[in-house]
Formats: sequence, C-alpha cells, structure tokens
Amino acid sequence: MTRHPDATRIERLKEVGRYALGVEWGDRHESILPYRNLRRACPCDACSAVAESPLTPEAERPVDFQVLGDRSLFIRWADNHETLLLVEEVRDLCRCARCVGEPDFPITGR
Ligand SMILES: [Zn+2]
Ligand SMILES: [Zn+2]
Repeated sequence: MTRHPDATRIERLKEVGRYALGVEWGDRHESILPYRNLRRACPCDACSAVAESPLTPEAERPVDFQVLGDRSLFIRWADNHETLLLVEEVRDLCRCARCVGEPDFPITGR
C-alpha cells in the first residue's frame, strides 16, 4: 500500500488521557493509539518472546516519547524498556474507521 508522504510525517505527539498517545499526522489525520498497542508492536526479540503474556502496568506506561529523525518513534517505558517503531508501523496501528475502512473513504470529508 502506498501512502502520501504526509501520511507518515508526525506533526505532533500528545498524551490522550492516561492510556493513549495521540499522533497528529502531516495529512491532518489524528490517531489515538493505546500505549498497550504500541508496546505490543515493539519489534524487539524480548517483546516478541512474550507476545502472549500479560503486560505489567509498567510495561504499558511510557515515561518518554519522541520522534527521531522523521522516520521513527522512540518510546521509553516505565519498566526501562525502549521501543523504536518506524512511523509507517505507527500509522499502521491506527484502527480508526478511516484507516481500516473503505479504501475510497472520502479524503476531503471529516
Ligand atoms: Zn521490545
Ligand atoms: Zn486512522
């Protein structure tokens, strides 16, 4: 699937409540990504090995997050784990109606 470059440019990160990260994308889309889903998406070997195990509260509570060089999202968790996700992977985590819905969803509508 090809995307407009703006769709994978992170404009802004913000906390949404206590359990989710809000991402504002360059194409004006906004994603609400539960921290749990972000932690589950961690591609490292350690996380893959325990993919079926329940997460501790610390494992899904971020203490720091930042965009690295336009291409990656870095998250440090309260259990001292670090996750690096490509922005494409972060955008793939968006489960809103527009992202999982009709391929011809009207882009101009809101
Ligand atoms: Zn990991
Ligand atoms: Zn979306």
